Amino acid sequence: MTESRRPRVRLRTTLEGVPAYKPGRPAAPQEGRTTYKISSNENPYPPLPSVVDVVAEAARSMNRYPDMAVTDLSHAIAERLDVPVEHVATGTGSVGVLTQLVTISCEPGDEVVYAWRSFEAYPIVTALSGATAVQVPLTEDARHDLPAMAEAITDRTRLVLVCSPNNPTGPAVTDAELRDFVARVPEDVLVVVDEAYLEFVTDPDAPDTLALYREYPNVAVLRTFSKAYGLAGLRVGYGVAHEPIATSLRKAATPFGVTDLAQRAAIASLGCYDELKERVDALVVERGRVLTALREQGWPVPDSQANFVWLPLGEHTLDFAAACQQAGLVVRPFEGDGARCTIGETEANDRLIEVAGGFRRRLADA
Ligand SMILES: *Cc1c(COP(=O)(O)O)cnc(C)c1O
Repeated sequence: MTESRRPRVRLRTTLEGVPAYKPGRPAAPQEGRTTYKISSNENPYPPLPSVVDVVAEAARSMNRYPDMAVTDLSHAIAERLDVPVEHVATGTGSVGVLTQLVTISCEPGDEVVYAWRSFEAYPIVTALSGATAVQVPLTEDARHDLPAMAEAITDRTRLVLVCSPNNPTGPAVTDAELRDFVARVPEDVLVVVDEAYLEFVTDPDAPDTLALYREYPNVAVLRTFSKAYGLAGLRVGYGVAHEPIATSLRKAATPFGVTDLAQRAAIASLGCYDELKERVDALVVERGRVLTALREQGWPVPDSQANFVWLPLGEHTLDFAAACQQAGLVVRPFEGDGARCTIGETEANDRLIEVAGGFRRRLADA
């Protein structure tokens, strides 16, 4: 074996500030018991057979590149949302579109304002672009502090990310507070509302972001097929934005990034959304059941409008994750802060309630 030599090539220094993304570990198999990965907010339901059939058929032509313009899917989305097709820009998951958004709006030294704690991809894509992250702490009840975010905008700010519902804590912003916020943002700053969990929202006060986008040309909406539509493994998401934002997003996309399989699966999924919505509704019912049970145990769990719940565990976070692991549940711990637990199969949810209850009693006894 030749000893590997360290290359001397010069890489961008900005990479030193880029956190490495920590994917949820797969659940380790356990003797005589099903294990559950509830760390990545995936949809626990397998894809609909009709969608699998469409993908299998599309696989027959995977020697070809996909439609680079993502024509049919863009039209299907535009029709569904009643927006001009020119305003739809797709990408390899909404994280792909998020990267495109940062690419088109930020140069080194510019500022990106977002709440913290929020989606782990935000610091990564911001740091990669060379822009500076301005993180605005969540409120006590784990919600966006939109007035503080408005205060944090400077003349270097190019982009503001609003995650609603917020990953990993769960609450959504309200229509009234988002409207107040957008009215305060200078019109040359792009506001992106990341609605990865939109379909799980039941709060009647939640924002109508498409109405905001129609009123304010600097507001864009980010959505995905990964969560409610259950296509996380195919990587397809989209943004809705005015021109020239949308065209710029298309310029910044990975060429042929959204595969033909993904495009067709997404179109098919839009076509059978009623069936998918039943599953979303069932997960929302389960979310309510888990929230109630955890609160009865005494956990101060914030509201969740998404497909996960947040346990504010502070210094006990890693111990809790270990207890879950022992019980065959992989949750997503954020050391020193809390754990995010996806609403999954009924048995996974039952087990989460059980482990959380036991852990709570042990904490009380300690
Ligand atoms: C899961 C998630 C996404 C979606 O990621 P994809 O790249 O579309 O799979 C986007 N934003 C947030 C906040 C998420 O939690």
